[in-house]
Amino acid sequence: GARRSISILGSTGSIGVNTLDVIAQLGGRDTFDLMAITGNSNIGLLARQAREFGARIAVTADEANYAALKEALAGTGIEAAAGRQALVEAASAEAGWVMAAIVGTAGLAPTLAAAARGADIALANKECLVSAGNLFVHAVKEGGGRLIPVDSEHSAIFQSLEDDQHHAVERIVLTASGGPFRTWSQEQMADVTVEVAKAHPNWSMGLKISIGSASMFNKALEMIEAKHLFDLKPEQIEVIVHPQSIIHSMVGYADGSVLAQLGSPDMRTAIGYALTYPDRPRLNVERLDFAKLARLDFEAPDEVRFPALRLARTALARGGVQGAVMNAAEEIAFDAFCAGRIGFLAMADVAEEVMEAMASHPAATAIEDVFEADAEARRRAAGIIARKEMAA
Ligand code: NDP
Ligand code: MG
Repeated sequence: GARRSISILGSTGSIGVNTLDVIAQLGGRDTFDLMAITGNSNIGLLARQAREFGARIAVTADEANYAALKEALAGTGIEAAAGRQALVEAASAEAGWVMAAIVGTAGLAPTLAAAARGADIALANKECLVSAGNLFVHAVKEGGGRLIPVDSEHSAIFQSLEDDQHHAVERIVLTASGGPFRTWSQEQMADVTVEVAKAHPNWSMGLKISIGSASMFNKALEMIEAKHLFDLKPEQIEVIVHPQSIIHSMVGYADGSVLAQLGSPDMRTAIGYALTYPDRPRLNVERLDFAKLARLDFEAPDEVRFPALRLARTALARGGVQGAVMNAAEEIAFDAFCAGRIGFLAMADVAEEVMEAMASHPAATAIEDVFEADAEARRRAAGIIARKEMAA
């Protein structure tokens, strides 16, 4: 059949690299017509990917990297581009399917552009839904494309949702590994370094989400992501700690049935599912060996040691731009933690203080309102971090 045209926003990241691995497994250039790929700092990898998979255009978000990218692609006929506007243009170029795998709010504008023109979106970049919520979902609906989750929990829920039974969904249960600090006290967590916090027990992922797994801020984002993806009420969203990361999430129905999706902790299953939906591709990933696994464990999450979960409940209850505010404040706090400016536990304190200060901020009626609330939350977070540093 015809090759499927695709673009990958964030091809040089953990999800991006796994996406190209899946594409290679499914026939590479013979099956997929790669339009645009985008990166930020990793120009060598971006250029190698573009050559290997025959991309039409490679884009770096950072204009300072334009010359290096152009040189790396010299003589290949592959176009080079740079800057935030070039990202949006790349996302707007004809591609039937777009993998949204940029990290953070930086991915919102290009992913919205892809959604608005009706591309099918495979969404890893959960911050789009956390920040822009209904507006993002609305843009997808207006555009007429499909929105297929790549986040493993949301892919599991998507796969466990029976067609025409959405009215019978009582709850969803997001599983959480609990991260490297699952059994640690707050005192133990207070002084951890980035090196310690990023070492996830089960999954290999980018830095931001690895730290977010340790603080459970990633689960907080996923609760809000689930609300918008599946149109749920806050009380329908549960979190359970499941240290083995074998059950990727579950859907509970009105008759008491619970459907789950299981698999090895390998993002390529969810990526392949989104990429070939509604088919299931043959993938070379590890098969579950239940006898070897022997057991699956569950624990209630602890919102005292992991306040991010409580903040997500607050954001869900308040609605409006609180998701955008929580996410933006945490992005700034995450940068400050990585730079050694604040401690691990202070990240949630910063997010909470900004959320409180902006609790009565008006809801967004246009995407510009989201960007404006995001910018204000960043300014406030930076101020709080500077104050904390002075006090330390
Ligand atoms: P990575 O940090 O590994 O990759 C991020 C990608 O975004 C890279 O291509 C990076 O470019 C690019 N990027 C970074 N900053 C910018 C910017 N300012 N503007 C444009 N592009 C930028 O992240 P992950 O792949 O781990 O995560 C991507 C998204 O997927 C996140 O939203 C994450 O929450 C989600 N996700 C990830 C999972 C995983 O297993 N990794 C699982 C579930 C969801 P470069 O590297 O060239 O600098
Ligand atoms: Mg996840």
